[in-house]
Amino acid sequence: MGKSATKDSDVARSTITAPKLAAKWRKLAEARCAAANERLTPARLAAYAELLASKRPVSAYELIALMEDRQQRKIAPLTVYRHLDFLTRVGLVHRLESTHSYLPCDHPEHAHESQYLLCSSCGHADEVESKPLESILNKIADQRGFQPENTVVEIKGLCASCATSDSD
Ligand SMILES: [Zn+2]
Ligand SMILES: [Zn+2]
Repeated sequence: MGKSATKDSDVARSTITAPKLAAKWRKLAEARCAAANERLTPARLAAYAELLASKRPVSAYELIALMEDRQQRKIAPLTVYRHLDFLTRVGLVHRLESTHSYLPCDHPEHAHESQYLLCSSCGHADEVESKPLESILNKIADQRGFQPENTVVEIKGLCASCATSDSD
């Protein structure tokens, strides 16, 4: 904890360039961090803004490249992994298991389970929050005395716009 905190604050605010973050997302980020009793450092916020600016889920290495490109300096991969862990932990970002990539949450105002529709053509990811599906899966597990720890529902295929352009 001590070390990463020092590192974040060592980097002066002015040296961190990040995509512009809409007030709505900044407020949500601040609220999630406050609820988790965590500090939203400029470096963490920069990683979050970069994920939001990207129109599709990105891997940790893609995120490092994007941030290095924008900030014109080398960034230690471990630092970015820590930011991703943090953002995932407070619920601002979801990790897609099947593609090892990260997606900013559509509605981070409350904790939730999500399911995802992943387009294998354009890379678009659609986050859905289906309570009925969640309760069916929990029921199935429960009937077998199984205690779920991590439920992953990721459907790969073609999004609506790729599906229509394919059939043209
Ligand atoms: Zn979400
Ligand atoms: Zn698509």
